[in-house]
Amino acid sequence: MSTTRTFSTDRGELGSTVPVGAVAAADSVLSWTGGAVEGETLLDERVGSNASWSAVVSAGTVLTIVDVGGNQSADFLAFDAHDHAHRYSAPDTLVAQQNAYIRVGTVLRSNESLPLMTVVANEIDRHDTIGGACSKESNTLRYGHHVAYEHGCRENFLTEGAKHDLGARDLVSNINWFMNVPVEADGSLGIVDGMSAPGKRVALRAERDVLVIVSNCPQMNNPCNDFNPTPLRMVVSRPASAGTDEAAA
Ligand SMILES: [Zn+2]
Repeated sequence: MSTTRTFSTDRGELGSTVPVGAVAAADSVLSWTGGAVEGETLLDERVGSNASWSAVVSAGTVLTIVDVGGNQSADFLAFDAHDHAHRYSAPDTLVAQQNAYIRVGTVLRSNESLPLMTVVANEIDRHDTIGGACSKESNTLRYGHHVAYEHGCRENFLTEGAKHDLGARDLVSNINWFMNVPVEADGSLGIVDGMSAPGKRVALRAERDVLVIVSNCPQMNNPCNDFNPTPLRMVVSRPASAGTDEAAA
């Protein structure tokens, strides 16, 4: 199933060739779980297989990302909602924590090394921010021209970013939630079978108002999605214990 979708931006009505309506395999085990923190639910949305999603997550609230089908890479970008030039930076994040993986306590830092979000709950060992996002160009290079018709995360980012007047120049190195990219003792990297499972979650507290853009990765040429792209659930909650915003480290 493939239809064209349109959306409104400051530049008028735009169309997208990214297909909608993809579904996971019929025998997929799906667990929709829910928000990882107690509190008022402000937003609760489902992201279909292969699709994109975005929202502004207000300072002090928590975004839970649910890996509904397990081993589904949620490719992720974050921007200061009021200044899109101030955005997620993988090197600033990794250098500040002196570790290659994203786990509980990781502060997602900006290109000015300021905190955008903090990982406050996590149900798998680690997440990746080295492996980057797939695209139809890189797929063609890695897997051959017969996959040129498949859209990738870059196309999802461009589609979703256009809703916020973001373009190709705004795409930076991303986070891959639930993707397993081990760094071996000799420094080599792999994209290997995931460690996640249906219903596993990661939760992020916004340290300022943050625009989050997610590509529910459509990749079918390596094991990052277990060769079966499945849905995600996105829940934004106001934690029950949240008073005024805490100053982040
Ligand atoms: Zn991807």
